[in-house]
Amino acid sequence: MKKENAVERVDLLISPGTVITLNDSWDLIPDGAVAVADGKIRWVGPSRDAAELFEAEETLDAGGGVIMPGLINAHTHASMTLFRGLADDLELMTWLNDYIFPAEKKLNREMVFWGAMLAAAEMIASGTTCFCDMYIFEDRVAQAAADCGIRAVVGEVLYDFPSPNYGESSNGLSFTRELIAQWRDHPLVSVAVEPHAVYTCSPELLKKCMELAEETGTSMMMHLAESRGEVDDIVARYGTTPVRHLGALGLLSERFVGIHCVVLDREEMRLMAEAGVRVAHNQESNLKLATGISPVPEMLELGIEVGLGTDGAASNNDLDMFTEMDFMAKVHKGFTLDPTVMDARSCLRVATRGSAAVVGLGDRIGALEEGRAADIIVLDFDKPHLTPVYNHYSHLVYAASGADVCHTVVNGRILYENGRFTSLDIEEVKARVRELARGFGR
Ligand SMILES: [Zn+2]
Repeated sequence: MKKENAVERVDLLISPGTVITLNDSWDLIPDGAVAVADGKIRWVGPSRDAAELFEAEETLDAGGGVIMPGLINAHTHASMTLFRGLADDLELMTWLNDYIFPAEKKLNREMVFWGAMLAAAEMIASGTTCFCDMYIFEDRVAQAAADCGIRAVVGEVLYDFPSPNYGESSNGLSFTRELIAQWRDHPLVSVAVEPHAVYTCSPELLKKCMELAEETGTSMMMHLAESRGEVDDIVARYGTTPVRHLGALGLLSERFVGIHCVVLDREEMRLMAEAGVRVAHNQESNLKLATGISPVPEMLELGIEVGLGTDGAASNNDLDMFTEMDFMAKVHKGFTLDPTVMDARSCLRVATRGSAAVVGLGDRIGALEEGRAADIIVLDFDKPHLTPVYNHYSHLVYAASGADVCHTVVNGRILYENGRFTSLDIEEVKARVRELARGFGR
C-alpha cells in the first residue's frame, strides 16, 4: 500500500546495492539505497524502505554492486597527465631537472586546462570524486574541475623563482589571494596555499604563506621530507631537518599539510602529531622514484591524520586510487614485516575519511551519511575477480580496481553512468591532449 502523503521527493535515488557507509560505526547495509537531495545525502538505508519513503526525480541502478563514498586523491598534479610516460626509471633529481622542469617551462594555460580535464576524466572513471592539486596556472585546473563537475582543492605552486604564470616570485601570494577570493563560494572548488617545498622556498616565503593561510582560513600544503637527498640538502643549508626547520619557523600547526613525509624520525613524527599536522601519503610515486617508504603505520598510531594521493601521473603513472590503496596495504606489511598493519579497513579509511580531513573537507565528504555531500560511487561486483564475496572491504582494497567503477556521482550530479561520461566529451579531451603532447616528445 502506498502512503501518499509520507512520500518525500528527492533528486536522486541510488539502489539496490551493498552500501559501505564508512561512517564512525562502519555500518554496512547489504541490500541498501542512498537518497540524494540538493547535492547532499538525504538518507541511507534498506532499499525496500527507500521505495516507500521517496519519490525520486532520477534513479541510478546500482545493480546489486557496491555503493560507497568516492575516493579522495589527497595530492596530485592533475595536468601532469600530459607527461605520463615521458620519462621513467630515473633518479628523482635527474627526472625533475633534466625532464620534468624543462617540459614544464613549455606549459601554457591551454595545456594545463586540457591536462587537468584528462586527469578529471580518469579520476571520475576510476571512482575518485575529489582531488587536491598543486600546479602552475591553477586557475585553469579550478576551471576544468568546475566545468566537468568533480570536486577539487587547488593551489598555485609557490617558490623563490619566477613562475610562467604569475611572473616574479613576489606575485605568487597575491595570485593565490585572488584565487581564494574568486572561488570562495563555489560548491565544488576550494583553494589552499601551496608552497612547493623547503628546498625551493625561503623561510620568509614560507612564513608569508602561513600568514595568508591563517588570514583566509585555508590550509598550507607542501612537499616535505620526500627523499634522503632533500633532508641532506636542508641539513647542509639550515643545520637541521626539513620538519624541524618548519617547526623552528613556527609553521607546524593544524593548518599545515605535509606531502610525502617519507624521511622522518620518531621525534619528528611526535612533533607533527602534537602540532596536529596532516599528511598526504603517495605510495606509488615514492616507490617509482625510489625515495623510500613513508612510516604511515607509525604516524597513524601517533594519531596523525593521513590521507592518500597518487602524486602526478608522470610519477605513478595512473590516477587509480583503488590500486593506490592496494600498494599502500602491501608495501607497509612488507616493509614492517608485519602482515597485520594497514588492514583493508584502515586503507579504505585513509583513502576516504583520512583524505577528506587532509584536504580540509573532513566534515563534508568521505562517508555516506545524512548531510554530507553526495559524492558517491558504485562498483560492479559481478566480476570473476570479485567472486565470491566474504568481506567487501577486502575486495575493495586487494582485488578491485578503478575499472570496476560503473557510476560516479559528485555533489548529487551523475558524472559517469555505465562507463559513459555525462559532463565532458572524452573523445575531445583525448584528442586535445594527444595534439598538445606532440610538443613534448623527444
Ligand atoms: Zn607532488
